[in-house]
Order: sequence, then C-alpha cells, then structure tokens
Amino acid sequence: MKRRSRNTGRALTIAGPKSAETLRNADVTQRPDYTVTETVDHRGRVLTNVEVAVIFWGRYWSSTSPAPSISSDTYYQAFTGLVTGPYMTGLSQYRGVGPGIMLGKFTNDSSDPSNGYSDSDVVDMLTAFFQDNASVPTPATGHQRFYAVITPPGINNSLNSLSGAGGQHQRFPYDGVTGYYCWVDSVGGLTDSVSDGVVNIFSHELVEACTDPVGTGIMVNGRQTDGTKVHNDEIADACNNEFAIVDINGVTCNVQCYWSDADKACIIPLGRLSFLTEKNTFGQGEVQLAVNTGNGVFPGAFRLALDDFSLDTFRSFNVGIPTPAGPFASLPGVTISPSPARPGDPAPAVPVPVCDAPADTGLSRPAGQPNTP
Ligand SMILES: [Zn+2]
Repeated sequence: MKRRSRNTGRALTIAGPKSAETLRNADVTQRPDYTVTETVDHRGRVLTNVEVAVIFWGRYWSSTSPAPSISSDTYYQAFTGLVTGPYMTGLSQYRGVGPGIMLGKFTNDSSDPSNGYSDSDVVDMLTAFFQDNASVPTPATGHQRFYAVITPPGINNSLNSLSGAGGQHQRFPYDGVTGYYCWVDSVGGLTDSVSDGVVNIFSHELVEACTDPVGTGIMVNGRQTDGTKVHNDEIADACNNEFAIVDINGVTCNVQCYWSDADKACIIPLGRLSFLTEKNTFGQGEVQLAVNTGNGVFPGAFRLALDDFSLDTFRSFNVGIPTPAGPFASLPGVTISPSPARPGDPAPAVPVPVCDAPADTGLSRPAGQPNTP
C-alpha cells in the first residue's frame, strides 16, 4: 500500500535531456525509511513476467474541454518505461521477478468512480468492463495479468481518508482465474517534491504486486527510530518516502524507490546507454588491408551499448546518430553511416559496403605506390 507522504523524504533529480551522453545515469540509491532488520521470502506466489493493462476510469480521461492536466497518454508512456525498462531489473534477486510487458491502455468512460469508492467497486468495474469490451485482455490461465486502475483527480478510495493510502494492490477472481489489480488515486503531479503522484504510486504498487501478489511473498521487517517494530511490510513500504525525479521513457517524473536486500538500500535501477569505440587508431598496414579486402569499410568501429532497456523502451528515446561534421567528414572518399540504419533494428549480417570504388573518389595515388587490386 502506498501511503501519501507529507514527509519530504530524500529526493534526487536525475532527469536530463535525451542524448547518448546524458542517458548514462547512475542508479538511484537511498537509505530506507527505517532500519530494515530482515528480508523474508515466505515462498508463496510471485509474478515473474507481469502483463500490465492500464484502465483510466471515468469520463474525465476522455474529456477535451478541459483536457486532463496530465494526459492518460503521458501516464501510460511513463508506466511503459517502468514495466519494460530497467526499473524492475533490481527485482531479479526475488526469485527472478523481472520486467514485464504492456497489454494496452484502456479508457472506461462509460462509468465514473464515486469519491470514497471501495475495492469491490473496482472489481465490479473491471468485471463489467471485461464483459462489455472483448478487446480488453482478461485474467487467463498461464498469464500474470495486472490491471492498474487510475481514477480522476479528486476521486479517492475510501482508504485515502482512513489511512492516507493513495494506492493499493489486490487480487480478484475472474472466470475462475486470479487476476491482480491496483487502484491509484490521482494525487500529486509528475514531479512533486514529496513522494507522491500517479507515477510514483503506480511504481510502488507494481513492484509490490510482483513480489507479494497474494501476501505470501517477499516481506520486510524492521525497526523505527523510536524502537517500534515493523513487521511484514512489502518492499516499497520500507522506502515509501524515498524517491527520485528521473527520466522514464521520455517522461520526467517522480518514481518510488524499492527495498533491495542485495544492496541493503532503496533503489531505482536506471540502466545505461554508453558509446563504445572498439579501436580508434589504425596503422598504415591495417588501413591498406581494409582498402584491399573490405572496400575500405571499418565495420563496427563504434557501438552504442544498451544495458537493461527493452528494445521498445529504447526506441522511444529516439536516439539519433548525428551527421558527421568537420574536416574528417568532408574527406573525399570517406563516408560514415549507421548500421543498422535505425537504432534497435537487427545488426546487418555483413558490413554494408558504402564506399565508392577508389577509382571514383578523385583521390590520386601517390607516385611510386603499387596499384593494388
Ligand atoms: Zn506498499
């Protein structure tokens, strides 16, 4: 359960512009809210390959005048980055829980949640929504389906006023199969200075639903500074007030840290994108050999290395390869081209021959140099 925070916690701002250089982020690591004394695996169910459908509930989400202050598309884009990107890779220590896939974004504007709605209201809505919309994937045997239900601003679950909860994950039966869901109240914005906001709450419920979907999975025990014992918290609860403003799939947003027993810390894995040079100096003999045998192509001279992103998430960064500039680029006979042409496409099996024949370059061979085949 995500408790709303009036505590500022410890924020880190990591977001940066979308370029290869600034994507090279360090993971976020922060201290937990209290002293964690033990992480216990109760050996019950975990969701290792979660499939996430997001249901924006209420006419608010499809209204155009005014449009929602933060659109469902923006939220879905951030959720996609959390589910399919590096964020969940730190969960592999918990029996192999890892990133998942997205099943789609759905808007239910045929009903409105009422303020003070309950868990059973959410289950009733989901059940009716499945029955009325054949395109919405239902809970199914062999699948770990998790439904995130997002309500309009000002419409809060009954637990919100009772215990200050902004979100909670649960399970429900549908047609004899167990599905999982969370509700998320639209409290806070994208970049709050407290541990708050729809993306933050979603990230909290996501990691807890995967590591403890039915209350028999990974749990945390600890001790508050005043000595009060904490028993059977879930992994995001120990880090409820720990967050960072990060770039997730192109959305700058407030994301919740979760407890990593392996790191003994609250973490947000962010993945890495780095630019590698295999070899950047070549002797005359190597150059001559490349000209003679490979049409002057140096395949794989530079590489963009991607750690912990799915291809879908990576493509959303739209990392471009700049057109070479400067004196080197304008040398007659030299061309530099990306292969594959589009980041994330499969690498070509053989180097793409892009050089003109030496005879076409206009370069004159130094006198006395043998004419090589
Ligand atoms: Zn929680």
